[in-house]
Amino acid sequence: MQKLALVGLGASGLFALKELAGADVEVHVFDVGPVYSKRYACPIDQGKLDVCPPKACSYCAPGQSAGSWNDFKVILSASQVIGGRLFDLIGETELQKRLDNVRATILTHAPVEIPVVKPNEDDLNWIKKRATLAGMTYHYQELLHCGSDNAPAINTSILSEIIASGPNIVFHWDTKVLSVARRGEQFAIRFDHYRKPGHETEESFDLCIVSVGRGGAHWLTQQEFYKALDVHPGQVDIGVRVETSCYFTEEVDKRFYEPKLYYRSHRHNDVVRNFCSNPRGFVTPENHRDYVLVNGHSKMYEKSENNNFAVLVSKTFTRPFKDPQLYSQTIARVANMLAGGGPLIQRLGDLRAGRRTKSLQNNLVKPTLEAECGDISLAYPHRILEGIIEYLDALNKICPGVSDDSTLLYAPECKSYPDSISVSKTMETTVPNLFIIGDSSSWTRGVGQAATSGLLAGEGVRQKVKGAGRVFAAAPPGESVAVKPPFVAEIKAEPLP
Ligand SMILES: Cc1cc2nc3c(=O)[nH]c(=O)nc-3n(C[C@H](O)[C@H](O)[C@H](O)COP(=O)(O)OP(=O)(O)OC[C@H]3O[C@@H](n4cnc5c(N)ncnc54)[C@H](O)[C@@H]3O)c2cc1C
Repeated sequence: MQKLALVGLGASGLFALKELAGADVEVHVFDVGPVYSKRYACPIDQGKLDVCPPKACSYCAPGQSAGSWNDFKVILSASQVIGGRLFDLIGETELQKRLDNVRATILTHAPVEIPVVKPNEDDLNWIKKRATLAGMTYHYQELLHCGSDNAPAINTSILSEIIASGPNIVFHWDTKVLSVARRGEQFAIRFDHYRKPGHETEESFDLCIVSVGRGGAHWLTQQEFYKALDVHPGQVDIGVRVETSCYFTEEVDKRFYEPKLYYRSHRHNDVVRNFCSNPRGFVTPENHRDYVLVNGHSKMYEKSENNNFAVLVSKTFTRPFKDPQLYSQTIARVANMLAGGGPLIQRLGDLRAGRRTKSLQNNLVKPTLEAECGDISLAYPHRILEGIIEYLDALNKICPGVSDDSTLLYAPECKSYPDSISVSKTMETTVPNLFIIGDSSSWTRGVGQAATSGLLAGEGVRQKVKGAGRVFAAAPPGESVAVKPPFVAEIKAEPLP
């Protein structure tokens, strides 16, 4: 039997594995994290810690399947704009088919009934009118919000089903893949225990699926095969986590949970968008070991009186600069430096007035995350802050109150994306038998499309190994798509359904 290495078992890896369970191929799964049933909830949330542990933990770190464990909101609509760019790769019908599969799988394994958030016609007319008057564009989406509290049960149940139907699968938990290298037609995988290294081993595989997420993006660039890939520099999103009263946003929360509203800043023509809304949720730190970002999540049962969401300004770069990730990490580090190592917090009123926030004692909105009061304008480029303020002023026309002085801004909230990699419709790269899926391919930006890319790769591998013959070849030439460079910066308005 042919052997396949699946490097990383996050959202994309899990759905690739689902497709490969019982297939005619021996699958070896490697993941840095412990077996799913031992992955724990956020220790801060559980009241066991006040601050993040010195090492990034499996709850939040993007290297450890964060979105499937944290908040677990799944976008179910095949959109050209939201959640990734697979629409451009496989088209709307094929994308929607896979997203429906992801939805059905999650709902089957959910321990409680999880409603699908789907705006009705009245809601759509409501938002379309208000968004237009505010100078914003609304993008339609249906979504599932599973909640951080349901995530462990869902993931563990999906994995148990895969194990039951997959005698062809071997797991290497707590194992870091050190390198993937081509050896003739094969891949040499070097791996070691993650927590207790010193048992380095090398094994050969016929095929390889890399699904290391955004956290593994740097690792990916260090691999021997990387130079042979067709890559384009990625994009960065720099912004803040906004926390405001849930009463200011309740009308849209009730109708949409998270309306995707895009805006073009007047002065710089940058795309500014909201992302990851958490009505009645909590702001959390996102610990990357050498810098700390902010994020947010919400739960099905425990609620706050606030809503938090990110407002992000998207930037792409042209030659000679080609390290957008370093750019956003540098901004994040400056913000952390000013805050003594963690996130900064500032009232919107103070940012507008050009002064630092000194205390939040009498502020209308009470923060759900303890952060250092300060001045974000000392860390962020003016252009970015201008876009954020313009966005909040526009949003205020839809959600009156949102741009009140009491609204809180946390920084840094930065998203950097790996290089865009050319792939076939089954996520196979220009290196034959090497598939790169999920956020590490840069084709996806969320759980729904990451899982979809896993299904695509699984289908591709299944076809290749059918009948156990050696039919391994590169994707047919017409199937290999040249990646369109970057994403959000070229947003078009989508017609509403
Ligand atoms: C805090 C946070 C909250 C988020 N919330 C949401 C949300 O609610 N909804 C949403 O759609 N998206 C959310 N996202 C984004 C979402 O997490 C990603 O889009 C999604 O997880 C991508 O899936 P993936 O399989 O590409 O990568 P991941 O899910 O990150 O999985 C990568 C896997 O690879 C493993 N790995 C990495 N390197 C190695 C190595 N060298 N050897 C072995 N294993 C390795 C990791 O342990 C991990 O299990 C969130 C992200 C963060 C950071």
